[in-house]
Amino acid sequence: MSKYWNERIHKLEPYIPGEQPKDKRYVKLNTNENPYPPSPKVLQAIRNAADDQLRLYPDPNTDDLRATLAEVTGLTSEHIFVGNGSDEVLAFSFMSFFSPDRPVMFADITYSFYKVYANLCSLEANIIPLDDEFKIPVDAFCKPNGGIVIPNPNAPTGRDISLSSIRKVLDANLDSVVIIDEAYVNFGAESVVPLIKEYPNLLVVQTLSKYSSLAGIRVGFALGNPELIDGLNRLKNSINSYTIDRLALAGAKAAIEDDAYYQQVADKIITTRQKTTKILHELGFNIVPSHANFIFITHPSFNAETLFYNLKEKGILVRYFNQARISNYLRVSIGTDEEMNQFVEAIKEIIKV
Ligand code: PMP
Repeated sequence: MSKYWNERIHKLEPYIPGEQPKDKRYVKLNTNENPYPPSPKVLQAIRNAADDQLRLYPDPNTDDLRATLAEVTGLTSEHIFVGNGSDEVLAFSFMSFFSPDRPVMFADITYSFYKVYANLCSLEANIIPLDDEFKIPVDAFCKPNGGIVIPNPNAPTGRDISLSSIRKVLDANLDSVVIIDEAYVNFGAESVVPLIKEYPNLLVVQTLSKYSSLAGIRVGFALGNPELIDGLNRLKNSINSYTIDRLALAGAKAAIEDDAYYQQVADKIITTRQKTTKILHELGFNIVPSHANFIFITHPSFNAETLFYNLKEKGILVRYFNQARISNYLRVSIGTDEEMNQFVEAIKEIIKV
């Protein structure tokens, strides 16, 4: 707190990101990064873009990248907004589409940045508890409200929600924007992108941080009807013209163009998730069914916080949330087979089986 801060800054409740530790090299299973490298074509495109053109500003409208995204999604460039990571896209969406006089709806438990954005925008939040199996109670989201945000799959649980359920939510909320956050959709859930032309109130947010192994270059995007996209552009251009740098633009375009590479990577991650789930089950863990690149696990006989510290001591970093209802759970990102073997061996030593 500082006497120099204005009242608005005093009221903020910032998000605390997962650790990016510097003390040693961990088996890093705590922030859902992709364990495999980006496509070689992406690295080459970034190298090629590192030329004398870096003295020039990047394209503020990200035209090339949007044209590529339009091609692969079957939409037009007018349906696409690109931001500095999907966190920025989500923040801009909260600022553009939700209002203090109408509560925004999201689940408890869900991605905790939503609460931060609601606070940032002075929004009332109508928080809907997940059911006993961590499923989204769809009917509760079908009541009149000032906007909705649902991740599919949800984080940190990994559970997905069906297209027909999302359709129900969209139909019930035609006067407000429904954001579906598809950060993890490529690991086995079903995308709602095909519904965009049918629903002017649907905004789909995706990221290159997970599926495309590019958390380090910060690119996310929104897909939705041009009226929504115009709103996002209006807001962005009132804050910062150049949110995506030249290297990121080049890398992102090459990533979108090399889906064959990433599909293979995602298949490997899904196989490793299935293998790890089976082994943990045999060790007595309960595992929430996951359609993401992470699993959410609990053991009836072992305290999650203790497990977290014991694993960290052994050089394995997972995510622990000191939060009601999930304080005995760990979220474990799916690494390579070798990393998951190390994780499993460490768990076995800790629980002594
Ligand atoms: N949505 C969800 C559900 C997430 O878990 C994350 C990653 N923490 C994001 C959005 C943001 O991802 P990024 O800003 O890297 O695109």
